Amino acid sequence: MDKIKRFIDCYIPTETCNLRCHYCYITQKRKFNTKLVALSHTPEEIRKALSRNRLGGVCLINMCAGGETLLSHDILPVIQKLLCEGHYVSVVTNGTLTQRFHEIAGWPEELLRHLFFKFSFHYLELKRREWIDKFFENVYSVRDAGASFTVEITPSDELIPYIDEVKKTCYEYLGTLCHVTIARDDRTDGIDILSCHPLDEYKKIWGQFVSPLFDFKTTIFYKKRKEFCYAGDWSLNLNLETGRVAQCYRCKELDNIYRSPDELLRVGAVGYNCPLPHCYNGHALIALGVIPELEAPTYAEERNRICIDGTEWLQPEMKAFMSSKLYESNKEYSKLRKMMIILKSRVARVSVLKTRVWEILRRIKIWQQD
Ligand code: SF4
Repeated sequence: MDKIKRFIDCYIPTETCNLRCHYCYITQKRKFNTKLVALSHTPEEIRKALSRNRLGGVCLINMCAGGETLLSHDILPVIQKLLCEGHYVSVVTNGTLTQRFHEIAGWPEELLRHLFFKFSFHYLELKRREWIDKFFENVYSVRDAGASFTVEITPSDELIPYIDEVKKTCYEYLGTLCHVTIARDDRTDGIDILSCHPLDEYKKIWGQFVSPLFDFKTTIFYKKRKEFCYAGDWSLNLNLETGRVAQCYRCKELDNIYRSPDELLRVGAVGYNCPLPHCYNGHALIALGVIPELEAPTYAEERNRICIDGTEWLQPEMKAFMSSKLYESNKEYSKLRKMMIILKSRVARVSVLKTRVWEILRRIKIWQQD
């Protein structure tokens, strides 16, 4: 049975979408453009840059664009190559591009067993366009071909009057309820929840979906992480176009996957220096085990559902893989190594401070001369 060695969160710089959801962070930040990614590296080069040898084992690679991931056709051969390499691949999609799903459904079954789709269920936008049928037919198409999936809704205040309707639709098409995520307001310093409702009320409203994903997210949202975090080693953030590898969100650059593909990647854990106000993607990162001392459900528990007919959203191989934890296939650092990381970050802070002081002194001097 495969166990996860690393989680690679892979950003695809497509920043356009065929939907226009009001809660979308690209809309909030007015970042929508017509940019469809045309990757400047071939699928073979990408496979080599992310080989199992180089990454130390079988990884879960999450492919997510700024807009709709599958809009760019270039992504499909990349996904296929990564599956051929033996990795497990997760694709975040709005589930509306039927042609893409038909193409994927024709891939060999042994590849589809390692493929997972996170279908974002944008109910109001799908309803407005009369695409609800189309959305679920696309879910069925990859499910029937042997891939795993999850259906997840983004809770928004505008959707509250439609909750009963959403539940009814889910039972009708899926034989169970969808999962629920948390909508973030990325314009705020604290990366707040995008809602007028306070957290307790928000939990009551959306808790009706009995979603382990939502339940876990609400326990870690707004909590600054102070434990030792292995992001930067056991998990990495990658920009697939530029090749830039960073420790985590807003963290420092470690390496570039395209620079020396025959060499091992440079890695190094964030440790106690998480820069974020809270670990908003902890439903994946923490659940997969980047902070070993934190108790969390498995990622499989957060993604799976058992339907009325007894079938499950996760296929057995994917379910077993998503049930494994990063700390089962990686060794924790020694006390000495952890101390070195603390020391290095203190030295870095002092040097930043020194540079700032020098800059202020320089400006005072110029001002006096004037
Ligand atoms: S606590 Fe979460 S956001 Fe912070 S570095 Fe670790 S994984 Fe990244």
